[in-house]
Amino acid sequence: MRKRVLAGNWKMYKTAAETSAFLEAFAPLVANASHAEIVICPPYVNLPAAVEAARGTAIEIGGQDLFWLREGAYTGEVSAPMLAAVGCRWVIVGHSERRQYFHETDETVLKKTRAALEAGLTPIVCVGERLEEREAGATESVLRIQCAGGIAGLTPEQFARIVIAYEPVWAIGTGKTATPEMAAHAHGVLRAEMASCFGAAAADSCRILYGGSVKPDNVKGLMEQEEIDGALVGGASLDPQSFAAIVTY
Ligand code: PEP
Repeated sequence: MRKRVLAGNWKMYKTAAETSAFLEAFAPLVANASHAEIVICPPYVNLPAAVEAARGTAIEIGGQDLFWLREGAYTGEVSAPMLAAVGCRWVIVGHSERRQYFHETDETVLKKTRAALEAGLTPIVCVGERLEEREAGATESVLRIQCAGGIAGLTPEQFARIVIAYEPVWAIGTGKTATPEMAAHAHGVLRAEMASCFGAAAADSCRILYGGSVKPDNVKGLMEQEEIDGALVGGASLDPQSFAAIVTY
């Protein structure tokens, strides 16, 4: 049985004070939600405030990115041990906005995933096709290439500790959601690919989240798909009522 994960990606939104206020309002709304792991990923500077405000709750905190080396002369970067030291348990790796605007590749995704695991973090490794790729009928091959470059290089022990997020780029922040059937099909492709790399049992245990304009009014249909093990939520995770409605769908 794969325990669901409902994770909020706050992107570049909220100050520390807004982070604390969100958690104060949100925590009581999800206090009985034991069916899922609940994760919030604020910007780096607000991680201490988030960890502090989530103390004593089941809500866990994650980073939105990391650098793959432990320390060094890399101005502006933050390492996995630094995230772990501040109290993070999770980290998003290879989000499409990182790939699009900050030149992330499958190769850097693999390095970052390994670094996260080494520091004891759970990486949420993002994959997904762009609109032109879907329209060209290339969705499956894009997912296979991203898996081959970004995930297949893990050891079986490392693979057992990651979470994958399928995020079709055309559905992120656009209000266009993949239908539950489209998402489930893509998840099936990913799981089959993982089975060919790590074996059927390992692939069957891997949690695959859907991300892309998940909202309170579409989350239930998505979660009813057996292949979908949770959601990575951007815009709708910024409001406590809205994200609580998604968590408790
Ligand atoms: C995301 O940022 O990962 C995301 C899915 O955003 P949104 O829910 O706003 O589409």
